[in-house]
Amino acid sequence: MINLLDLDQAGLREQIVVWGYPGYRAEQIWRWLYTQKVTRFEEMANLPPDLRDDLTNQAVIGGLETVREILSADGETTKYLFQLPDGQTIETVLMEYDGQRRTACISTQAGCAMGCVFCATGQMGFARHLSSGEIVEQALYVARQLEAQGERLSNVVLMGMGEPFHNYEASLAAIRRIIDPEGLGIGQRHVTISTVGMVPAIRRFAAEGLQVRLAISLHAATDEERSALLPVNKRWPLDELIDAVQDYVGQVGRRVTFEWTSIAQENDTPEQAHQLGQLLQGLLCHVNIIPLNPTQGYSGRKPDAARVDEFVSILSSYGVPATVRVRRGIDINAGCGQLKTAVDLGLA
Ligand code: SAH
Ligand code: SF4
Repeated sequence: MINLLDLDQAGLREQIVVWGYPGYRAEQIWRWLYTQKVTRFEEMANLPPDLRDDLTNQAVIGGLETVREILSADGETTKYLFQLPDGQTIETVLMEYDGQRRTACISTQAGCAMGCVFCATGQMGFARHLSSGEIVEQALYVARQLEAQGERLSNVVLMGMGEPFHNYEASLAAIRRIIDPEGLGIGQRHVTISTVGMVPAIRRFAAEGLQVRLAISLHAATDEERSALLPVNKRWPLDELIDAVQDYVGQVGRRVTFEWTSIAQENDTPEQAHQLGQLLQGLLCHVNIIPLNPTQGYSGRKPDAARVDEFVSILSSYGVPATVRVRRGIDINAGCGQLKTAVDLGLA
C-alpha cells in the first residue's frame, strides 16, 4: 500500500501515470488531499470510478489512528495520541491562543535518540523515524479538526517528539508540503523547526533557501554544563554550534531563537545569565526561556518567577532580548518535553 501523504506533487503524478491515467488526475487528487482534506477515496467526486478503485486497492490516505484526545482544563490545549500502522505511538498538540493563532506542535520521530536528561521523549529512547507522510498527516489532522469548527490552522512547530534534524529528509519533505500554497498553505514564517544543535544539519538547512524559522535548544552557556544536560554537546560543542548559527544568520539574514529550558539552581543563576549574554552578544537572536516542565525521569525543578526576571534583565544588559514562554497544557502532560506515550504509566 502506498501512503499518498508520503508523496510530493511530482511523485504523485509519476504514480498516477504509472497506473495509466493522465497526469492532471494527480492535480485533482492533490487538491482533494490538501485543500478539501478528505480522508476517503469515495469523496473524490471528480475522479473516474476505475481510478477510485485503483486508489482504494493500492493506496491509503495516511495511517494515523486516534487512540486518545485529551483537552486541558483551560480548554486551550488539546493533545492527540496517535497509533501508527506498526503499532508505534506519537503525540501531537494543538494550542489555541486568543485571536487567530492556532498552532500544531508535531512530532518527527517515535521517541528520540538524543537523550536530553530533562526531556520525557529523550528518557524513552529512540523507536524510529517518522515518514514525511506521518509528519504531514499530524498537521493535516489538526487542520481538519479546526476547519470542522470554522477555524484554520495558522502555525506549525516541529517541536513535538523527536529531533527533526536527525530525520532531516523526511522533516524537510514534510515542511515543503506544509508551506506549499497548493499543500497545507501555511506561511513559511509561521513554521518553526527546533533542533538540539546538530551542526551539519544547521549548515545544510541554511542552504535550503527557506524562510521557515529556526530554533536552537541551547540550555547552557558552557560546554561542561551543556554536556551534562545534552549529550549531543559532546559531539558538537558550543563553539562549533555558535559558529554554525552565526553563519546561518549571515546567510539568511533572519533572527534565530535560542530555547533555554530553565532549571532551578542549574542554569537559572546570574552567572549563567552573564555567560549567556557574553556568548550571544551581537548575534541576531532572541532567547525563549521555558521554565522546566516536570517529567518522571528528572528531579530538577522550575525556577521562581523572580529568578527568571533577573535572568532576563541580565541578558538585556548585553542587548540580548529574551521572553518567557507561556506554559501550556501542563495538566495533560502536553508541555514542552513532556510528550511521551505513557498511557501504560497513566500519565497521558
Ligand atoms: N528535539 C528538538 C525539538 C523538540 S523538543 C529540540 O530539542 O529542540 C522542544 C523543546 O522543548 C526543546 O527546546 C527542549 O529542550 C524543550 N524541553 C524538553 N524537555 C523539556 C522540559 N521537561 N521542560 C521544558 N522544556 C523542555
Ligand atoms: Fe530529543 Fe529534543 Fe527531547 Fe532532546 S529535547 S531528547 S533532542 S526531543
